[in-house]
Amino acid sequence: MGKMDSVVPEKHPLSSKFQFRCHKDIKCFTQCCRNIEILLTPYDVIRLKKRLEISSAEFLEKYAYMKIDDKSSHPYAILKMSEESDKKCSFLTEDGCTIYTDRPANCRNYPVGQGTLKKESESGPTQEEFYFFIREPHCYGYNEKKEWTIESWRKDQEVDGYDEANREWKELLLRKNLPGQVELDEKKQFQFYMASYDMDRFWKFVFESDFLNVFDIDDETVEKIRNDEVELAKFGVKYIQYVMMLKESLKVKKDADKYRKK
Ligand code: SF4
Ligand code: SF4
Repeated sequence: MGKMDSVVPEKHPLSSKFQFRCHKDIKCFTQCCRNIEILLTPYDVIRLKKRLEISSAEFLEKYAYMKIDDKSSHPYAILKMSEESDKKCSFLTEDGCTIYTDRPANCRNYPVGQGTLKKESESGPTQEEFYFFIREPHCYGYNEKKEWTIESWRKDQEVDGYDEANREWKELLLRKNLPGQVELDEKKQFQFYMASYDMDRFWKFVFESDFLNVFDIDDETVEKIRNDEVELAKFGVKYIQYVMMLKESLKVKKDADKYRKK
């Protein structure tokens, strides 16, 4: 949530303090849930499809749209806003967010943004996480007296679990800003989108096709991804890395060719 021109261009550590409170009686209540581009993560979709008791395909069809990033050609799912003039989020009512306890990671973080820097060190590349504030003119939350550190805010909003589930996928997301990316063709965009967001379809692809005859996946992983969608989404990142030829994250079986020809 938050438009780029509202980002305060200053990096902060977890210990940085700020004053903020968002509550139902504030005059800007729900103003931030309109006309906004909210990028969804794989774990957001897993939580929301479970909450709404629908399939991943139904969720993506009803509540999201695919956006192809101009620079990287990566496909991302974006939360749909209403086509009416108020352009409000599909989950917004006068009483607030109807899926609040399962709201997406970007809604949880607001008004704190999160960034990652890749750094080279003697022991190889490392990642440095940093935070920044989003200050939008319509948001009166900063005028409230409640004090936080970024760390206590994140804990209160329960974002750590989302970060943990999305960690590998967020590395793919970071790549979208790298210069000189190879453009993904439509087939690869479909594979990227499916393995990121459409877990029911990806599950069928892994378990009801020749996938396990072609790729050498150990039994423990097979059982984990069969029964746990979060693990399946993490495995999805390996599949995407393989498809995008970023690394040999999957090993092809010696006799794979006889299945591939089918
Ligand atoms: S205080 Fe800010 S985050 Fe809370 S409802 Fe108002 S605009 Fe949204
Ligand atoms: S999901 Fe909830 S918190 Fe996020 S924009 Fe929609 S109504 Fe607001």
